[in-house]
Amino acid sequence: MLDERDIRAMLMVQGSEREELFTQARAARAGVYGDRVVVRAVIEVTNLCRVDCDFCPMRRSNTRTNDVFHQTPAEMIETAIGVHALGVDVICFQGGEVPQTTTSVGAALPTIAELYGGRVELLLNLGNKTRAEYARLREQGATSYIIKHETSDVDLHLRMRHEALDRRLACTADLLDLGYRVGSGMIIGLPGQSPDSIARDIVLCRDMGVHMMSAAPFVPAPDTPLAGVPAGDVELTLNVLAAMRLAQPEWTIPSVSAMRASVEGGQRRGFDAGANVIVFNATPADVRDKYLIYGKDRKVSDYEYVMDVIAQADLTPGGSVFLTETGRP
Ligand code: SF4
Repeated sequence: MLDERDIRAMLMVQGSEREELFTQARAARAGVYGDRVVVRAVIEVTNLCRVDCDFCPMRRSNTRTNDVFHQTPAEMIETAIGVHALGVDVICFQGGEVPQTTTSVGAALPTIAELYGGRVELLLNLGNKTRAEYARLREQGATSYIIKHETSDVDLHLRMRHEALDRRLACTADLLDLGYRVGSGMIIGLPGQSPDSIARDIVLCRDMGVHMMSAAPFVPAPDTPLAGVPAGDVELTLNVLAAMRLAQPEWTIPSVSAMRASVEGGQRRGFDAGANVIVFNATPADVRDKYLIYGKDRKVSDYEYVMDVIAQADLTPGGSVFLTETGRP
C-alpha cells in the first residue's frame, strides 16, 4: 500500500517518469472501470452560503452584492426530467451551505427517484449539516454526498475557510455511517500549501474510507481575498490525480471543470492521468449565470462538450458505478 512518502514522490515526477506514472494510473483505472467514464449532471440549487471561504465568490461577505437565487423543488424536478431524457443516471445537487437546502432538495428527491424507477444516483453537495438532516435526506432518496475537506492542513483550512477541519471530518464520518457513498476533495495551489500536505490529504481520505475523490487547481476569482493569488498548477494537479488513482484504484475521480478554466484541453488531460468522471451543467441558464463559482467568466460545460471530451480521451460514456441490482446504492 502506498504511504505518504510514495505519494509525495509521485507528485514531484516529471518527464518520462511522469508519463510512466500516468500510464500506470490509466492501467489501474482500466482494471476497475474498463473504458467507462461516469457522466454526471449537476444542478446548482442556490448561491446562498453561510460560510466565508476566501477562495469563493459566493462567500457570505458577498451575499449583499450577489444576485441570490434558490431553486424551488418544482424547478429542480423540471431540470431532472431533462437529464433523464438524456439517459444520464447521476444527478448532483450542488449549492452553498445553508440549512434551507435540506427542505428544498429533500422535497424534490422522491419525485426524481420515482421518475427513474429508483435506478438513479442522487448525489448531494450541500456542505455541513447535522446528522439528523443527513439522515432525513437519505430517507428522501439521496444516495451519495460530496463533502470536500479542501485541505487537511488544520491551520490552512481555518485560514482559508474560517471553519474547523474537525467539523468537516465529523460530517464525513456521519455520512459514511449513514450509508452514503461519500466523496471528498481538495484544492491544489492554495497559498501556503505544501506537497507533504497534499500527500497527507490523499492518505487521510483513504483512511476515512471515502468512495470518491477529487483534486481541482485553485482558480483565483474576482471579489475574493485570493483574487490576486496565482492560479494552482494544472501540471501538479495531474500528478495528484494519478497518485490518487494509484493510492485507491476504486475511487471515482473527476476531471473537473477547473482544469478547463486554467488550461485549454486541461479536462481531457485529466483522463490521461487516470480520472473516470466528468460533470456537465444542467442548471437552467438564467440561474446558472448567478452561480459564481469561479467568477462571472466561467466556462460552462454542457452535455455535448463532455461527450466530446470523453471521445477525445478515447473512452466511453457510462452511468453510475454505485447502482446495485436493486437500484439504490
Ligand atoms: S466554497 Fe462552498 S462553503 Fe465555501 S463559501 Fe463557497 S459555496 Fe460556501
